[in-house]
Amino acid sequence: MEQAVFPKKPYSGRGGAKTPHYKNTCGRESISVPLPGMIVLPVQQHIGAPCVPCVKAGDRVLVGQVIADTTAFVSAPVHSSVSGTVKKIARIRMPNGSPCDAVFIEPDGLQELSPDIKPPEVNDRESLLKAVRASGCVGLGGAGFPTHVKLNVTPDKADTLIVNGAECEPYITCDHREILENSWNIMSGLYTLQELLGFKRVIIGVENNKPDAIELLESIAESETYDPHDRIKVLKLKTNYPQGAEKVLVRSCTGRTVPAGKLPLDAGCVVINITTLSFIADYLKTGVPLIKKRITVDGSAVGMRGNYIVPVGVPIADVLDFCKVKNAEKVLMGGPMMGVAVSDLSTPVLKQNNAILAFSGKDAEVPPETACINCGRCITSCPMRLQPVRIQRAAARKDVAELEKLGVMNCIECGCCTYNCPAKRYITQQMRVAKAILRESKQK
Ligand code: SF4
Ligand code: SF4
Repeated sequence: MEQAVFPKKPYSGRGGAKTPHYKNTCGRESISVPLPGMIVLPVQQHIGAPCVPCVKAGDRVLVGQVIADTTAFVSAPVHSSVSGTVKKIARIRMPNGSPCDAVFIEPDGLQELSPDIKPPEVNDRESLLKAVRASGCVGLGGAGFPTHVKLNVTPDKADTLIVNGAECEPYITCDHREILENSWNIMSGLYTLQELLGFKRVIIGVENNKPDAIELLESIAESETYDPHDRIKVLKLKTNYPQGAEKVLVRSCTGRTVPAGKLPLDAGCVVINITTLSFIADYLKTGVPLIKKRITVDGSAVGMRGNYIVPVGVPIADVLDFCKVKNAEKVLMGGPMMGVAVSDLSTPVLKQNNAILAFSGKDAEVPPETACINCGRCITSCPMRLQPVRIQRAAARKDVAELEKLGVMNCIECGCCTYNCPAKRYITQQMRVAKAILRESKQK
């Protein structure tokens, strides 16, 4: 068997932001939140085709029962996180503003399991992909891309599996807790994926601000019993935001560059979030689909900061109540760099959510924009080698040809340009507008 080759240290990248860590909650064991009065399950909690509800008002549903699905390949079924009664199917507004049908379920408190829950039979690539789809798994690091689509690779296309344990956003510690609380699950998922999908090597990338997590994973990965062919290595990554962005991670772990407009697969890599991997291992053992989620709740308005296991579909307001949040003036779904501000607290926690942050006072203020001083910091801090200052000017002129030339679609919306701008310009927002202008021009 060919020997796997690993880098001795991470490859260096470009740009980034020296954000504060604020990993206040990494030492706190996860706590389960009680069931709310109503669970709200949007039929699209993933990138791809929306599902269609397969239940109706008045139906009794059980924990783990499929309540919405589709035959589309790029999609993932939605399961009930509670037993109870379907009250209605109605349109809600998702955090990004788009409308979506949602199934409202009133829990009965019995948490009766669906008889369909049983460990799947998995013994080859096809049965693994089928099981991952049936589990409703999507990228749990925030992206929400259906995992069975990502794993639909063959050894000639991808030789390296990169496990993303970077967790580079300030405040968020749910992946860190997953490593500390479920390291054996992670390893078991990793061996299954490596064996059935034929990766030559597996690199687990973890930022070096999590020494306890690194030590724990290394102690398993370096054991001859568990990795006899030396195919798995833990790589300590420099703590530098956005280390966990897929393209940045591919560079740090392999030295390869994902070509502009392409995917990690085009550099021979598959990147999977560490909690996603742990969930897959758990599903293969128990057959319980993706119905609950660990999220970090933190911020200056939170009385009880920590990591919480919540049923998918619990309204944010219920989580905030349980965590003793008072006078929140700004609530974010996700981290402060890439998260989305929430205007309606009845919005439910989705499969891919990893944090709710609530701020008050100065922390909730947005500094006023001032004029650009042409310092170029947004350019030097861009990990994608873009020229944000030029892109925002081209967007203001609606100069589609220039936006194309400047490669705006390669922007990963990491927020480093905004963070480093001394004039406090809302550059990342303008990058999103610029991308929308270019997309629309192509649809005409
Ligand atoms: S960092 Fe801000 S002030 Fe400096 S060039 Fe970019 S937009 Fe202008
Ligand atoms: S232009 Fe996009 S990729 Fe570059 S720093 Fe700004 S948000 Fe990040």
